[in-house]
Amino acid sequence: MPTLSLEDLVQRNIDYAPSHTPMPTLEEAAAAGGDMECTLVITCVDFRVRVEEMLQLNAQDKVLVCRNPGGRVAAAMEQIMLFKVFLSLKRIVVIHHSDCGASHFKDHLIREALLNQHPDHPEIENMVFGSFDNLEQGVRDDLEVLKNSPFVPEELKEQCFGYTYDIKTGLLSPVH
Ligand SMILES: [Zn+2]
Repeated sequence: MPTLSLEDLVQRNIDYAPSHTPMPTLEEAAAAGGDMECTLVITCVDFRVRVEEMLQLNAQDKVLVCRNPGGRVAAAMEQIMLFKVFLSLKRIVVIHHSDCGASHFKDHLIREALLNQHPDHPEIENMVFGSFDNLEQGVRDDLEVLKNSPFVPEELKEQCFGYTYDIKTGLLSPVH
């Protein structure tokens, strides 16, 4: 497989721009009326998780996508708090996926490797990298983090949902 170069990426953007649909500014969107209630999707950075495609998203849907390794809620908490201040979040959807890299590494091994590289930084001992052993349980754990957070309003806690995503079938499965 040929390696993607930076020039390739820039050229793809040049090729894409003529078909680009201009997006409204936030001011224009507000002036056009309608609610500004957003759904927040928290999912993995993995390139196999193509959120816009699998959920058929468009800009009018007002879906914010927050990505980090594993799609872990703890790593997204500061963003959730930020959105809460200046946006109206009506729903949070946590999506973890099959064959996730975060299920292949272990936090303690990452910490060990980093401490070897940076022996003068003991704070690494306290770092969390989001590894998980069981796909469904990882989603359940993250829903618990939302439900137990003092920073998630009660009405939003009622609108937190979890799914696993199968990278082979493209299907979501609810996690209860
Ligand atoms: Zn992943």
